Amino acid sequence: AVKATQVHKAFGSLHVLKGVDMTVMPGSVTVILGPSGSGKSTFLRLINQLETLTGGEIDVDGEMIGYKYVDKDGKQVLQTLNDKEVAEQRSKLGMVFQRFNLFPHMTALENVMEAPVHVKHMDKKEARKLAIEELNRVGMGDRLGHYPAQLSGGQQQRVAIARALAMKPEIMLFDEPTSALDPELVGEVLNVMLSLAKEGMTMVVVTHEIGFAREVADQIVFMDGGVVVEQGGPEIIDNPQEPRFKDFLQHVL
Ligand code: ATP
Ligand code: MG
Repeated sequence: AVKATQVHKAFGSLHVLKGVDMTVMPGSVTVILGPSGSGKSTFLRLINQLETLTGGEIDVDGEMIGYKYVDKDGKQVLQTLNDKEVAEQRSKLGMVFQRFNLFPHMTALENVMEAPVHVKHMDKKEARKLAIEELNRVGMGDRLGHYPAQLSGGQQQRVAIARALAMKPEIMLFDEPTSALDPELVGEVLNVMLSLAKEGMTMVVVTHEIGFAREVADQIVFMDGGVVVEQGGPEIIDNPQEPRFKDFLQHVL
């Protein structure tokens, strides 16, 4: 599970997140909606420790991220985690971005094998087997030797998903995974995400794909201006209460 409590984030004097609370249950799909600049990406990046919190707390699997309590002269004081501890926490999370950022000089197979070999020190034969499994899982088993430039955007994004899955994350974070794709390629990526959801993967998805949200999400969170304005089950899409959410939906639908 992911539990965010009163999460604040400021970049200098720009206060981007102003007390966000959110709970993501194991095996559930949370879709975060919100206008540009509302802090959605920042929130995902905080969960994955690509940014540091200004205030509040995020727990992943019941463990506070970024910090731990240590005993100092009989008192419990907060200490920043070291790089190894941070890496361990981050290994529970897989992240997929809007831009696929695959390594251009590596084939699909090599892209997916890279982290298991270099981060987990898995032997190459085993990593190859794992990578083929994950590429099959996203329907890319027949493109193992293709370089990113030889793949469509949708195919590249599916390889990016396989690459994240190869690290066996407990939770997958998606930041607008289909926004950079041509419209006809969006469906194949959403289908892969749908099948992951059906397998019981815990997912947090920032997207403007309202149809996906309605069908796949267990929880919808609408953010605006750095706060959660409305949240609930997928039914809130068809019955929004807050004026800002109503207005947003009118613009994206
Ligand atoms: P979009 O829908 O456009 O992706 P978003 O909801 O993901 O928007 P964020 O990317 O989280 O929004 O950005 C929220 C605000 O924080 C924006 O005003 C942005 O300019 C600012 N911001 C994000 N990252 C940084 C940074 N590293 N330094 C300074 N400001 C930042
Ligand atoms: Mg964003």
